[in-house]
Amino acid sequence: MKPLRCRCGQVIGLDDLMHIAYHPHTMGANRIQVRFECPKCGRVSERLLPQAVWDEMLLAYLENDERTLNEWMETTQLGPITDEEIRAMRRELRQGDLLRSLRKWEASQGEPQD
Ligand SMILES: [Zn+2]
Repeated sequence: MKPLRCRCGQVIGLDDLMHIAYHPHTMGANRIQVRFECPKCGRVSERLLPQAVWDEMLLAYLENDERTLNEWMETTQLGPITDEEIRAMRRELRQGDLLRSLRKWEASQGEPQD
C-alpha cells in the first residue's frame, strides 16, 4: 500500500487528516474523499480514494497508532462527519481482518460481535 503523500513528498499521518467524507455508490465502488494538511509545507490537499484503498490506509494507520479508531475520531477535528459516515466506516472495516484496536472500538460501542 502506498502511503498518502503531499505533493512535496511528505508522508501524511493520521493527525494530518482534516476531513473525511463518504460518497457511497449503490453500484460500483464507494469513494472516500480525504482532505489533509501537510505538516511540512502546509498545503491543503484533497484526494478521492477508492474504498479499498482507504480501508487499507486506515488499517495501516491504526496498526501503527496507540489509539483506537474511536479515540482517534474523538480527538480529531474531522469536520462534519456524520453518524452515517461513522457507520459506513465501521461496516467497511468489519469486512476486513479485524485489528485489535478495532475490536476494542467495537467493544466500547457495546454491540455484539458477529
Ligand atoms: Zn507538503
